[in-house]
Amino acid sequence: MNRRPGWMASLPPSKTPAPGRSQGSGASPGRIVPAPVLPEKPGGLGLASDRARESMVDALARGGVRDLPVLDAMLQVPRHQFVEAGLASRAYEDVALPIGHGQTISKPSTVARMIELVVDHLPASRRAQSRALEVGTGCGYQAAVLARVFGQVVSIERVSGLHELARANLRPLRLTNLRLAFGDGHQGVAQGAPYDAIIVAAAGDSIPEALLGQMTIGGKLVAPVLVAGGRQALHRVERVSAERWHSTVLDAVRFVPLRSGTS
Ligand code: SAH
Repeated sequence: MNRRPGWMASLPPSKTPAPGRSQGSGASPGRIVPAPVLPEKPGGLGLASDRARESMVDALARGGVRDLPVLDAMLQVPRHQFVEAGLASRAYEDVALPIGHGQTISKPSTVARMIELVVDHLPASRRAQSRALEVGTGCGYQAAVLARVFGQVVSIERVSGLHELARANLRPLRLTNLRLAFGDGHQGVAQGAPYDAIIVAAAGDSIPEALLGQMTIGGKLVAPVLVAGGRQALHRVERVSAERWHSTVLDAVRFVPLRSGTS
């Protein structure tokens, strides 16, 4: 049975098969063959979640996400394992969901769009060597997607409970190119700098200066910034030289606030 939707035909084979996906049965047509009993991962929804994730990625492609490695990464990362069990059945809807500590996991369409906005300058040949920083790890979902798109990823979180939650959520995925840091992301993470891509997942009054300094020349940053009336606009910044940055204001967005210090 080949259920690959149109956009998937042009994707390279996935690095790892999605959990529970049938590898082809060889059953003759018309015979009813019992489905194989597959080991269920803890918190997994098995085939149902594979299908839900495929539909989610289909919707992202229809909604304008064009970067195939980004779509493939969204297909690989089991979003339902990043939310609490009671919300797992809603994990593939295009909604933000609570993750505790008053924070949320970003909508899949937001995650895909933000990543697309900071990766478009990197041709396929440069991605394996590229470096990305995320400010605001939360439950770790976007960090996992980033780790399947960029060569090396650092993600920093200021709430210790969420930093630990992300660590636990990410452990089964064994992403050896992802490093989690605990601290205030206003300072960036100097150790992994400079970065080809920076994503800020929380809205501040402005883009922290340290982050601008940690971009490669030609690198891209995307961040929600507070504007009048408590609204927020997504900003994209390109570092054009050692001393110059070019900023573009994109659409209205809604993120949790970028806070100072740790808790
Ligand atoms: N990246 C997440 C979204 C998390 S929500 C996802 O995959 O869905 C944004 C996160 O930013 C929250 O966990 C919040 O605690 C964190 N945050 C806010 N201010 C921060 C700061 N100054 N440094 C690091 N993290 C911060």
